[in-house]
Amino acid sequence: MRFETRAIHIGQDPDRSTGATIPPLYLSSTYTQTAPGETRGYDYARSDNPTRANLEACLASLEGGEACAAFASGLAACSAILDTLQPGDGVVASHDLYGGTFRLLDKVFRPQGIDVAFAESGDPEAFERAIHAVRTPRLLWLESPTNPLLDIVDIGGLSALASSYGLLTVVDNTFATPGLQRPIEFGADYVVHSTTKYLGGHSDVIGGAVIARTFDLLKRIRFLQNARGAVPGPFDCYLVQRGIKTLALRIERHCKNARRLAHILQDATGVRRVIYPGLSSHAGHELAKRQMKDFGGMLSLELEGGLVAAKRFCTGLRVFSLAESLGGIESLCCHPATMTHASIPKEIREPRGITDGLIRLSVGLEHIDDLVSDVLQAFKD
Ligand SMILES: *Cc1c(COP(=O)(O)O)cnc(C)c1O
Repeated sequence: MRFETRAIHIGQDPDRSTGATIPPLYLSSTYTQTAPGETRGYDYARSDNPTRANLEACLASLEGGEACAAFASGLAACSAILDTLQPGDGVVASHDLYGGTFRLLDKVFRPQGIDVAFAESGDPEAFERAIHAVRTPRLLWLESPTNPLLDIVDIGGLSALASSYGLLTVVDNTFATPGLQRPIEFGADYVVHSTTKYLGGHSDVIGGAVIARTFDLLKRIRFLQNARGAVPGPFDCYLVQRGIKTLALRIERHCKNARRLAHILQDATGVRRVIYPGLSSHAGHELAKRQMKDFGGMLSLELEGGLVAAKRFCTGLRVFSLAESLGGIESLCCHPATMTHASIPKEIREPRGITDGLIRLSVGLEHIDDLVSDVLQAFKD
């Protein structure tokens, strides 16, 4: 079956006892046993429940992995992977990580004795040096496209490098989704998601997931899902699964709207540069063409006039909401320097390109004419 069909049907068999076409939401926390220790596959809903199992089956299929474990948030999913490490083990990561993932590595796992080294996302030699810089390198951690600068990272090249040194590769695929990019096909061992974003797609649920290339690679994570207990509730799983059914359709429109907006913004006065992987001016454009099916719904722009211009633009928008997060049906605008990346000191973020004039847009599914006129009128206010 093709992607669109699997998104709708995997884990969504009609209910066997009633014929309900959409499987019911199983809220029960416990499952009645026929004899002590004899279950029908479920005993207690933290360990497993049908609504979650359905979502996990669907996500594994969409990413091309053998198994998936769902979590209460994207960061709980990231934690579960990092929890497989022992003190003394090392993680090599690209510099441009989601802020919460950086915080997890730096403030939670590093103090527990995990070595962490960072490398520039476009520099394979820097990754090689970082692998040598940690004592026992175990994991390579990548995101592509990155946040908020939308760099395209060579998943195939870097996971081959990682595996030549015996590291497993983790790719956070939240920005691209399996609708546009399937890291396991390029050699990744784990894919991690914040299902809060495009997979849920409606800005009404927090969730996460780990998909592993093989059953074996998921074993410890599956154990930790139950042992640590950072599990999503059934209703959350239901909402994410419901979102996934329209993922292919939504992603198509997200990409189309973002591409059009990127072209229009390129010519707008007051815009220093537009960062969108679909533009031929983007340094990662050719790599994105090889690695992704389309260029995504995220775009960033740098305004002339720095902080003052950025604040005026953000507050002048009427259709776009000024909010963190991304990937929902509604368009969102974010000012990284004062919002998502405010905890990074200016001396560090400015040279990295996260300037006071940088704006990140999550382009939604509204009519493109309304999005274009909203952005253009925000320049005039
Ligand atoms: C949002 C996000 C996360 C964290 O997910 P939560 O669901 O908020 O815990 C991780 N990685 C990326 C790329 C994200 O955008």
